[in-house]
Amino acid sequence: MDLNYQCASCGKTNEVFIEEELGHHQQLVEDCAVCCRPMVITARWNEWSKEFDLEVYQEDLG
Ligand SMILES: [Zn+2]
Repeated sequence: MDLNYQCASCGKTNEVFIEEELGHHQQLVEDCAVCCRPMVITARWNEWSKEFDLEVYQEDLG
């Protein structure tokens, strides 16, 4: 599914594709389309809302 996340660096909204088949807890790295900084995105399936919750932080800041 396509999900939106907010870049932790510039604050712009980006889109990321999460493959549900890969599991209910995933971590991936995407470059922001605006500022090109790498974002670590943690996706956790929310059984209650039936969608993924995303946590985003900037990779090069740890
Ligand atoms: Zn950005």
